[in-house]
Amino acid sequence: MYQRSIGSAFNGKIQEIPGVWVDNFENVTSAKPRAYFLSHCHSDHMQGLHSITLLDYLTKHNVYIYTTDLSAAIIDDEKRDPRIMEYVKVLKLGSSLITLPSIEDEAEILVTVTLIPAGHSAGAVMFLFQTVSYTVLFTGDFRINTSDVRKYAALHANGVPIKINAMYVDTTFIDYAYEDFPKRSESVDVLLRELDQWLNNGTVNRGVALHTSAKYGYEFVFNEIYKRLGVKVYVDEDRWKFYRLIPHLVPGVTNDSKHTKIHLCTKRTENNHITCIPNNYPQFLYVHLSAMKWTNYSPNLKSVVHVTQTRMDVCFATHCSRSELMYFVNYFSPDKIVGFPNPFVDRRGVKRKIVKACDGQTEIREKKLDKGLLKEIFG
Ligand SMILES: [Zn+2]
Ligand SMILES: [Zn+2]
Repeated sequence: MYQRSIGSAFNGKIQEIPGVWVDNFENVTSAKPRAYFLSHCHSDHMQGLHSITLLDYLTKHNVYIYTTDLSAAIIDDEKRDPRIMEYVKVLKLGSSLITLPSIEDEAEILVTVTLIPAGHSAGAVMFLFQTVSYTVLFTGDFRINTSDVRKYAALHANGVPIKINAMYVDTTFIDYAYEDFPKRSESVDVLLRELDQWLNNGTVNRGVALHTSAKYGYEFVFNEIYKRLGVKVYVDEDRWKFYRLIPHLVPGVTNDSKHTKIHLCTKRTENNHITCIPNNYPQFLYVHLSAMKWTNYSPNLKSVVHVTQTRMDVCFATHCSRSELMYFVNYFSPDKIVGFPNPFVDRRGVKRKIVKACDGQTEIREKKLDKGLLKEIFG
């Protein structure tokens, strides 16, 4: 989720299905993977993917990385060695049958893997793994409104939630300080009203600098701006490299600075934006979209705050709030829960399991985040 690489969100191991590794490509030699899966292309889910150790292992053992066509395109774009692409296999949304090769004492087995949209960033998916013995859901980073959970056909059988033996779940906002977030559509409605007013009021030509907390995940915002205000968001070459691959998914961005007043800003403070967008405007509204700083948000509060006349903060969450997360977990009541990047526990201090966790097998892995770095990233 983060703009900078700050280590892995998850250690990668799916305990129930030996050899299945997700969103972590480190420690290859000790891991003995039989198949890798990548849910989306945020750097904390791709650690080790471009290492020579990984490539050596894939080549030697004929092991593949399974992901979506979009993530495959990003890997292709960022690759250091062209041979990696021979080991990337594209899966479509829905179910596929995959063979896990026999490695050492593990016999070859078949796994059904189902890709489910995760509502996190463009192309992000969850993986549902099914073998004869286990059903495992790996959510990757995700956000699903509580009212939408029942609409996920792949997670239901005859209208009833499927039995999940183990759930590996995104706990980014499990802290009580993040009980609620506004729906993304609500945040965008308010944002658009404000942008419309800013751009069309006043006598001078006005611009907008949109600053986001993570590199990707705000595509919905750009598309809505384009749909309703008729303006595309200008992005720099680094982002354009990615978005140009998926114009059908992100029609709301452009690399043409001439015809827009809104740019995706990489600056952490409001400043002169002439280096972000070549056309200068006398006045800019600096808009910061984030969730991390919105502690104790509640549905009766506004999702937008005017910090100064030229700076506005908008609450926009690409991960579940605590209440959404708890609803999702309780809805399926899996036998075992593994949280990432935070342990799935009560964060009010007492480390209490909220739902029946397994017989001591739950892997709890607290990610140590550098406070200074967090402050720098989230202001
Ligand atoms: Zn992410
Ligand atoms: Zn800027």
